[in-house]
Amino acid sequence: MTNYNFGAGPALLPEPVITQAKIDILEWNNTKQSILEIGHRSKEIEELFSKVEKDLREVLVIPSTYRILFLPGGASFQFAMIPINLIGAYDVIDCFDTGFWSQRAIAEARKVARVNIVASSSPTNYASIPEPSEWRCSENAAYCHYTSNETIGGIEFDKAPELTNGTPLVADMSSNILSTPLDVSAFGLIYASAQKNLGIAGLSIVIIREDLLARAPDNLPDISTFRTHAKHLSLYNTPPIVCVYVTGLILGWIKSQGGLQAMHNSRIKKSKKLYDMIDSSEFYSNRIDKRYRSKMNIPFRLPNESLEKLFLENASAQGLLNLQGHRSMGGVRASLYNAMPEQGVDALISFMTEFQKKYA
Ligand SMILES: *Cc1c(COP(=O)(O)O)cnc(C)c1O
Repeated sequence: MTNYNFGAGPALLPEPVITQAKIDILEWNNTKQSILEIGHRSKEIEELFSKVEKDLREVLVIPSTYRILFLPGGASFQFAMIPINLIGAYDVIDCFDTGFWSQRAIAEARKVARVNIVASSSPTNYASIPEPSEWRCSENAAYCHYTSNETIGGIEFDKAPELTNGTPLVADMSSNILSTPLDVSAFGLIYASAQKNLGIAGLSIVIIREDLLARAPDNLPDISTFRTHAKHLSLYNTPPIVCVYVTGLILGWIKSQGGLQAMHNSRIKKSKKLYDMIDSSEFYSNRIDKRYRSKMNIPFRLPNESLEKLFLENASAQGLLNLQGHRSMGGVRASLYNAMPEQGVDALISFMTEFQKKYA
């Protein structure tokens, strides 16, 4: 029986990545040392970091006016770090409210400045995103923050918000980065924790337009400024080496699969299969506006909670793992990150079909 991990994060890794990591845990790159042991002041790690950066730049087509930072901690750490680094002389931060993770970012931004909600999904109970004609941007915000994919609610922007006022756009792409081609030049800053689509827990990747590095006040602790980490090429203090190493393996795997266009095609195909199954049944349901349905995290409900409990138990016994919805939501959630093979989605769909036959 093949097991498939549908967890939202830490998430599954491509099989060749695990196979390579097993080798490198014993000895990495002819260094006579394990990747778990090697020091960050070695030539090999300096080379590793610059190779991972180069590969990320190539895969995501990141212009040379942007810096790439490998920072310890998850996206939640960035919720705190971004406002203090980008507020500068401004007094308002624009934010989209589309669900759980954007609200976490908003709560931290509020500790630093006034927050203007550009648009909120709350009138639809987080099932849709307001039209651009309803957005209310500030004239002079430090930046405008949005969450490109709400991992818990299962709602995803169909494209990046187009701001006409020159405000730098800041995106939390933790759960959909590297799943589709992107015009990086439209952003001031992009960040993502690694454990969904780019690796393992303990690392965030920050892609920041160079001019924004200057905004942080000098009296911030060095460790908490992007400027410090940029100056030291993400080697200011002992970095999460193994996390960066795994991200490097993932970038190699993405390239071998055909890059972001291949990831995009795969996510369209996989998510369509699952939504078609849900929509064609009276038994399963997903309430998100079709235009904004997430192609990465697909939450759905069964007719009642006791059936959901049984569904999750039976699925798990058949190797379909970690399908439970977030603790704040309940229900079922299938995360279809880049590393999820199409066979995993097929296995889930046939399980759902059988389960429905038996219990509908
Ligand atoms: C998982 C997630 C986070 C939080 O990441 P941590 O690494 O747990 O801090 C933030 N935003 C989004 C969109 C996420 O999916």
